[in-house]
Amino acid sequence: MGIIDGKMISSKVKESITAEVEALKQKTGKTPGLAVVLVGEDPASAVYVRNKNKTCKNVGFQSFENILPADTSEKKLLDLIDELNKDEKVNGILVQLPLPNHIDSQKVLEAINPAKDVDGFHLENVGRLVTGNAAFKPCTPAGIIELLDQYKVEIEGKNAVVLGRSNIVGKPIAFLLLDRNATVTVCHSRTKDLPAVARSADILIAAIGKPKFVTSDMVKDGAVVIDVGINRVDGKLVGDVDYESVSKSASLITPVPGGVGPMTIAMLMVNTLRAFKDSLS
Ligand code: NDP
Repeated sequence: MGIIDGKMISSKVKESITAEVEALKQKTGKTPGLAVVLVGEDPASAVYVRNKNKTCKNVGFQSFENILPADTSEKKLLDLIDELNKDEKVNGILVQLPLPNHIDSQKVLEAINPAKDVDGFHLENVGRLVTGNAAFKPCTPAGIIELLDQYKVEIEGKNAVVLGRSNIVGKPIAFLLLDRNATVTVCHSRTKDLPAVARSADILIAAIGKPKFVTSDMVKDGAVVIDVGINRVDGKLVGDVDYESVSKSASLITPVPGGVGPMTIAMLMVNTLRAFKDSLS
């Protein structure tokens, strides 16, 4: 069994971005900028936003933090997005989800200029992804593909099973794997005999948000297991995979923490750099 070290790979990705940003700064006198918008005080979201800002600074980006109170109106948020769309210093806009219930998240995501949509959630970018013309790949799925590539996991022709069908993880990773010529099956809460489907996987991606849901009886010997889950149990972070038992039969596995998580932020930086470079041409 081998461990897929997401922390190490994400550091490599960030180092290469830092070097490229420095070179571009010398050449153009400009710096990539990412605006992060947080509405409300959800503690997990606040941590994500802090980490995103910190990473921006580490790689040499400008970061623009917009923290709004929980009772901010939808109109006020849309006005801010409009301002950020027009701001030349801002190359990427990220609205931290979930938004409070009184705000229509889809409407807000659709208001972001697709050229600055570094999360890849605007319908134009979703359409591009589904048709195999992705501009901005959603960060977590893009991070998973980067991990598979860095560990030289062959994707073409393999059976890939994705547990979970959310718009931010399950569906986009299914399309990215399909693009790479895997045979993809997507499971969800109505799937019949999920363990049997999971056992057919050469590559198993767990993104359901249920601690230690995937046990060793659901995993084929030698499978590659990617655990996207982030669950807090008794103050500890636990994935969707029962690491103890599954790591004995998997050929490669991501730990939680230190697997997919760090890659998500690294890929956000990749997308922001891309938006910056596109803005120069
Ligand atoms: P969602 O809650 O949006 O989606 C969960 C999916 O899992 C749904 O499609 C649901 O099915 C399915 N599901 C839930 N329970 C079961 C079950 N018992 N059997 C089969 N399928 C089930 O979650 P997300 O995709 O947003 O996130 C998934 C996990 O990944 C969470 O732990 C989250 O914290 C983590 N995450 C981690 C990230 C990272 O950077 N590492 C980034 C994003 C998320 P149905 O559609 O039928 O309801």
